[in-house]
Amino acid sequence: MDDCIFCKIAFGEVRVPRIYENENFFSIKDAHPKVEGHSLVISKKHFKNVLDMPSSLGTELIDCVKNTYAKLGKELKCEGFNVVSNNFKAGGQEVNHVHFHILPRKEDDGFRIFVNK
Ligand code: AMP
Ligand code: ZN
Repeated sequence: MDDCIFCKIAFGEVRVPRIYENENFFSIKDAHPKVEGHSLVISKKHFKNVLDMPSSLGTELIDCVKNTYAKLGKELKCEGFNVVSNNFKAGGQEVNHVHFHILPRKEDDGFRIFVNK
């Protein structure tokens, strides 16, 4: 996709350090972090959203989530994390290339997302 920033990063046209990568996914730090260490797991291929992505990539997706958090966890000494995926405009999606937010958490950090109690 010509005009997709995540495709440009995936192809190395825009150079961004990678936290972790496997055959189909890679992770980078979010450009506008909501919490310390806020990162994104991004598909190397252009799928618009979770519905557009083949279910067979699920294992590699979870591998990238786990390994990204393992690296962030060591770096930041965080104590937990949230995985968030915004889908479609009504779901708050701004970049139409499937990605998953990794939000490192610490006890009593005060950060709240709407699914929090
Ligand atoms: P959303 O589509 O709502 O899940 O949000 C897209 C996320 O991508 C936002 O948190 C942005 O800060 C992030 N983002 C957009 N462009 C870049 C970029 N070039 N590098 C890193 N993160 C980005
Ligand atoms: Zn793309």
